[in-house]
Amino acid sequence: MQVGDFYEFFADDARLVAEELDLKVSEKSSHGSSYPMAGVPVDDLLPYLKTLVERGYRVAVADQRDSEDTTREITRVVTPGTLVGVTGADARYLATVVRGDDEVGLAFVDVTTGRFHVTGVDDTDDAFTELYRFSPEEVLPGPDLRDDDAFIERVRETTDATLTLHGSEAFAPGRATHTLREQFGDGALDSVGVESQGAAARAAGAAVAYVDETGAGVLASLTRIQSYGSTDHVDLDATTQRNLELTETMQGDRSGSLFDTVDHTVTSAGGRLLREWLQRPRQSLGELERRQESVAALASAALARERLRETLDEGYDLERLASRAVHGSADAAALLRVRDTLELMPDLADAVESDPQLADSPLGRVFGRFDRAAAADLRDTIDEALVDDPPSSGTRGLFRKGFDPELDDLIEEYEEAKGWLDDLAAREKQRLGVTHLQVDRNKTDGYYIQIGKSEADAAPEEYREIKTLKNSRRFVTDELEEKERRLLRVEEQRGDLERELLDDLRGTVADHATLLQEAGRALAELDAFCSLAVHAAENGWVRPELTEGDALDVEAGRHPVVEQTVEFVPNDARFADDRRFLVVTGPNMSGKSTYMRQTALIVLLAQVGSFVPADAARVGLVDGIYTRVGALDELAQGRSTFMVEMQELSNILHSATEDSLVILDEVGRGTATYDGISIAWAATEYLHNEVRAKTLFATHYHELTSLADRLERVANVHVAADERDGEVTFLRTIREGPTDRSYGIHVADLAGVPDPVVDRADEVLSRLREEKAIEARGGSGSSEPVQAVFDLGSGSFQQAASDGGSADEGPSEPSGPSEPSGPSEPSGPTLDDDQREVLEDITDTPLNDLTPVEALTKVQEWQDELEGE
Ligand code: ADP
Ligand code: MG
Repeated sequence: MQVGDFYEFFADDARLVAEELDLKVSEKSSHGSSYPMAGVPVDDLLPYLKTLVERGYRVAVADQRDSEDTTREITRVVTPGTLVGVTGADARYLATVVRGDDEVGLAFVDVTTGRFHVTGVDDTDDAFTELYRFSPEEVLPGPDLRDDDAFIERVRETTDATLTLHGSEAFAPGRATHTLREQFGDGALDSVGVESQGAAARAAGAAVAYVDETGAGVLASLTRIQSYGSTDHVDLDATTQRNLELTETMQGDRSGSLFDTVDHTVTSAGGRLLREWLQRPRQSLGELERRQESVAALASAALARERLRETLDEGYDLERLASRAVHGSADAAALLRVRDTLELMPDLADAVESDPQLADSPLGRVFGRFDRAAAADLRDTIDEALVDDPPSSGTRGLFRKGFDPELDDLIEEYEEAKGWLDDLAAREKQRLGVTHLQVDRNKTDGYYIQIGKSEADAAPEEYREIKTLKNSRRFVTDELEEKERRLLRVEEQRGDLERELLDDLRGTVADHATLLQEAGRALAELDAFCSLAVHAAENGWVRPELTEGDALDVEAGRHPVVEQTVEFVPNDARFADDRRFLVVTGPNMSGKSTYMRQTALIVLLAQVGSFVPADAARVGLVDGIYTRVGALDELAQGRSTFMVEMQELSNILHSATEDSLVILDEVGRGTATYDGISIAWAATEYLHNEVRAKTLFATHYHELTSLADRLERVANVHVAADERDGEVTFLRTIREGPTDRSYGIHVADLAGVPDPVVDRADEVLSRLREEKAIEARGGSGSSEPVQAVFDLGSGSFQQAASDGGSADEGPSEPSGPSEPSGPSEPSGPTLDDDQREVLEDITDTPLNDLTPVEALTKVQEWQDELEGE
């Protein structure tokens, strides 16, 4: 509650707020009782508000209408999603979500910039993809979702947002549409393709109503509703966004993310846009080529690019400033920042237009997207009004002389009266011939003339004595009183007029909110393009060839983040009609995950319009990128349970299409070996036969490498390692074909496991290898010493084994553990002729030509033969 220059909190609020904001509590007494009180300065409210709302509080602000006013009313309720005035690169979204009959509607509003996005998605899963992407500060679920515990729980897991569960009837279809019509005009919904009674419209209407309800005062900056559908965007679910570390690493750090690595923007608006691009890759070839051409032009025009970036760096965040003007919180300094930023336009335009490469690229049209003449006019309007460096508080002295004749007159009158008063003492001293005379003022007496006692007799007739002090006497005159009255009157008029003029100027700027948003958007685009160009030029990235078709062919690709910190060994990723599913094997820590992620990131960057880390790349546009990481490191971090892993696998199998890119990293690891292999096996078949997505599948189940022989479009690649004299060197190079070794013991050694343990493990492994008895093929290649034996001929398990700790449902006593043996390794010496014959028969049996009954008969034959030995 405003009390003069402070906002005060009382009683329990005071204690709470003092604790949160580290304020002093004072005791205030009134009518015999006392209560605690804590305050923050009116001029400096924002940082305190920010801290409070970031901790999840809603803050009601009650303002005094003027300094004498004793009644106060609540003028706004500040919530995490409706805090205006903040700066910095991050957008601050308020999200509304509502479930409709056949879709879930979402709206995202950033009141600090006026951004307003709305969409309808198929189900709540997709809704979480959006929530993860926008990472809102506050989520307002519709009435139906409020009671859905699972939904609420998942919002808490997916976002750091404050959940606001109270609400209005704003989500009701009729109400929402009405609100939207009022806000954006009658045709707006149609023109952005939002169905007027649908869930998306309801979410959008509720968002507008809520912003209005909190009194944030920024409705006028919500000028444009933007709807986006999924058709033009690449589907990236929340898990994939996280796995690919787009904006933060798996550990939750910003540094080390893709955004952090490629971000060279110099403005916060540019940073926001670049982040949005990375989170929203596109499918539209036209748009992507437009972006590529801009990046290409800037990548080669280094001088013009640096000139642009230096100039951009001097500008401010026009979207945010527009929002503050509308909100009424833009002070003179903020308006001057608008001027200074608009002032850069001609120079920026010239930097683009005077370089032939840039001028011919789509960048040449960037400055055509807003009214440049209007921008120049607005700049002049502000410039004509305000002095260059205005006082930091108050309104006195903000305006240039000549801007407003009435103000100039008032100032002149003020100065004249002030001058008369200032000179009065000197004049009177001389006139009266006294030395101890001064003119001063205080609260009770106003202006007065004071003369030392010894000389007070010199006071002329017109001097009226008002006070006698110990050493002096005080006088006033009619003229003095008259001048004083005039001074006070003029001072007040001047203050009123200056406030009015500032309001007008702010209003003029607010009226241009759309222009400022558009101009700000143009600057942000320039900045984001420059950033992509800088990164491409500095890191030797190339422009990928984009095609509508099915291609994915990367020559010497690198991981955009990892290449920053290590001597990176480039690798190809080649897909073709007969190799759409690559099984990636290789030792632990050899680079499987890195290879798959780099391939996904190259595709993603290509569909952002960026250059990519490779020597050459041909990328057929994908409709979605799906990843699932079941790797042990993930599990160990408690980030994944087997259930979650399977839900995500299920989601991929449902959502991916022939045009998608799927990355599976050690799926099935979270369960017992048998289960794991079986699931991985079946998922591979399904992806291959039904979904037909381009897939990279890293696995420690070496059994899966045999799928290449059975399934047409599956191929094996492996990360090569060199083993000599017991020393293993990781080559980081992808080679064709499978590998059957995982070098787990080597990794244990690297990790500093004590030598005796490592040596003993080597011994055990050798013994296990020797012991492999009847299997000529099959077995497992992971580092666990005891593994299931998977018979490839029949696709079933022959033997049971425990896989070292996880809950295995298989029989617990291994009757003969085995180690992998590729075709190159000789089979064990213990087979007799009959056994060998059966084995050969099994190997040669053309499975695809057999009916199940024929297969069973075969098995029966083999069993008979073996038993009859
Ligand atoms: P895996 O998934 O096979 O266990 P990772 O992909 O996690 O292995 O890679 C392990 C480490 O190897 C990475 O942290 C990275 O530093 C390094 N690495 C991976 N690929 C390469 C490469 N192509 N060039 C250089 N270092 C690499
Ligand atoms: Mg890995």
